[in-house]
Amino acid sequence: MLVNVLINSTLQRVTRPLTYEVPLSLQREIAVGARVVVPLGKREVEGIVTGFPGHVRIDNLKSVREVLDKGFLPPSLIELLLWISEYYLCLPGEVLPLVLPPLLKGRRYSWRWVGGGEEEIEGLAFISPLAGEVATYLARRGEVSERQLRRRWPAGELATALRELEDRGLAVKLRAVAGKGQEPPCGLPEGTACFGKEGEKGPRGPIIVLNQAQRAALQLIQSALEREGGNFLLHGITGSGKTEVYIRSIAVALERNKGAIVLVPEHALIPQMVERLRCAFGDRVVVIHGELAPRERTANWFKIRQGQAMIAVGTRSALFAPFPKLGLIVIDEEHATTYKHEATPRYDAREVALKRGQLEKAVVIFGTATPSTEAYFLACRGQLQLLELKERVAGSTPPRIKVIDMREEFRSGHFGHFSRELQREIGSTLARGEQVLLFLNRRGYAPHVVCRYCGYVPACHQCAVGLTYHADGKLRCHYCGLEQAWPDTCPRCGGSLALLGIGTQRVEAEVRACFPQARLLRADSDTTGSPRRWAEIYHQFACGQADILIGTQTIAKGMDFEGVTLVGVINADLSLFLPDFRARERTFQLLMQVAGRAGRRAREGKVLIQTFNPEDPAIIFAAQQDYKGFYRTEIAARRLLRYPPFVKLARLGLIGPYEGEVISAAHALAKVLQEAATGIEVLGPAPAAIARIRGEYRWQLTLKAPSWQQIKRGLDKGLAHYRVPAGVRLIKEIGPVTMW
Ligand code: ADP
Ligand code: ZN
Repeated sequence: MLVNVLINSTLQRVTRPLTYEVPLSLQREIAVGARVVVPLGKREVEGIVTGFPGHVRIDNLKSVREVLDKGFLPPSLIELLLWISEYYLCLPGEVLPLVLPPLLKGRRYSWRWVGGGEEEIEGLAFISPLAGEVATYLARRGEVSERQLRRRWPAGELATALRELEDRGLAVKLRAVAGKGQEPPCGLPEGTACFGKEGEKGPRGPIIVLNQAQRAALQLIQSALEREGGNFLLHGITGSGKTEVYIRSIAVALERNKGAIVLVPEHALIPQMVERLRCAFGDRVVVIHGELAPRERTANWFKIRQGQAMIAVGTRSALFAPFPKLGLIVIDEEHATTYKHEATPRYDAREVALKRGQLEKAVVIFGTATPSTEAYFLACRGQLQLLELKERVAGSTPPRIKVIDMREEFRSGHFGHFSRELQREIGSTLARGEQVLLFLNRRGYAPHVVCRYCGYVPACHQCAVGLTYHADGKLRCHYCGLEQAWPDTCPRCGGSLALLGIGTQRVEAEVRACFPQARLLRADSDTTGSPRRWAEIYHQFACGQADILIGTQTIAKGMDFEGVTLVGVINADLSLFLPDFRARERTFQLLMQVAGRAGRRAREGKVLIQTFNPEDPAIIFAAQQDYKGFYRTEIAARRLLRYPPFVKLARLGLIGPYEGEVISAAHALAKVLQEAATGIEVLGPAPAAIARIRGEYRWQLTLKAPSWQQIKRGLDKGLAHYRVPAGVRLIKEIGPVTMW
């Protein structure tokens, strides 16, 4: 009997699973997903069984030494892992950390003697001499690690003897489960806990009667859960009751004894989702995300695997929760770019969710108010079943949205960042005792600094970007974090430096000057460095301890503030002209999301969008809250320009400290691909959008082909003729979603 084992090692770059022989004594214990110990060179290492090879003709195969845990990973997760490595062009070993709990090292079994005295051992020794020997050894010491036992006896025979002891109830196998210990509520850092008001913890909540549209959606999801799964796009404006549909769907999965995964696009959104789910399902909900302490993540991982927890909530990485049986995957705010992992393995959680759903016959729900063009396209073609919630649930009306043409303001002699109407509305909203949200997707005080005399711009010496001025008097690079003192005067000519443009700090300063009595809060990555800090700000504002919240995109997403009746978008154009074919879609989504923050309850909300481009479709359709209108324009443009979903894209990035080397490597790569890869369009090479970061030069090639298969075939062929020069790194990325 042979097995393929994927070595779990960061030291050794093992490119594929290795084949080992399984000794007779271990054959009963081995399965796909088992955690095993195998020899590698002179060491013994841990690995995961990924499959059984058919026929291999290799002499002197080494043997599996030990099986640590037979059902460690569900076989479907192994299949998913191998698929990811194939699809996203990375090594299986690079995918392995996604599916393993963070703490595994040194976690081994020990054996404890629970049998009687000498007489019993003697009887045993009569039947099986080796079992008797082991028993004597164990009985004397009480508890012994399996590793220690294996130093004394050969693995295979030892396993037989131990099984004998176990079967007779004389010894038990103990596993030190990592990360035991006290769990804070919600699996969040202590102190952040739930946002619920007093007395709202634990299962509770008013009985909500679903409306017609919700019931219709739930019915289809329910019947898919009872059959072989299915994929859905739940398209509903903010406040239309999507989360309520998720909750009912999860309940159906749980009834069938299957687990559920709920993904949100960023940490900041975990607490509210956890609160809603805990209200419905109590402590069967656990949290998984990258910033959780390893000990806690490991504990939650085991809870899921052992069936103690049935619902995993988290960011991207929660997608790999090891449920023995999975019924449902929910991807909330499906359109978010954070579902794409921006480091190896460069997977897209949405694609992986569909794959996992297919492997486990589970239901996948993409939920959002503004589906990505790709997802809506799939829905139009019937590959996702479209479920629509067209109205907000009882009691709230959609906000009134008004576009303010800043060119007009300028022409009539008003040069400030705030239009007269926005100022007026802020004033009257505050006078009514209601809350204001001001949105600007740029942090810092002034994003541009320039010398008025000689044109000098302070730039980062490591990155190809200018520095941003911050209110604390420092200049910072937003790519590498470099910090410099403000030079007072131009270092080149001694002239005076001008601060141009506006960031959230400047918004704060200007609002403070206009409305000195208003209580302000600011939420951007300078103030919300940790999820906990964001939770505090959110809580303060939600409790009415502040009148105005100023923030970047964090405040645009999924936040539910009852008291907000005015939302102001300071500059809607920021993301409109980025060199990215998705720039328009991003702007539209962001505006729709921000607008959804206004008047979520009985009071009517108002949204003011300031722009210099009021004729842009992204702005017009957002102001009309017309998703389909926007989609029609966008999909037509994508078809015309041959962009996804009509083609598959891949990006090859070349990075290195010497510009000349990077450029020539990029050209050489372009050449081999153009020669070898027919059916692929090779665009570039060209410098990346940010041509240098942290002192490294970045060039890119973009590949376009009708399908993934063609990209893959072309790359395999082309890269076979190409060696990445020393000093340059090659990054392969399938389906890039952000600029680079
Ligand atoms: P979404 O996820 O689409 O933003 P939610 O599910 O969070 O919407 O619903 C918004 C609010 O309305 C929540 O407070 C929720 O409890 C409530 N709600 C949802 N469905 C109903 C319903 N059928 N009847 C009454 N209230 C509802
Ligand atoms: Zn920098």
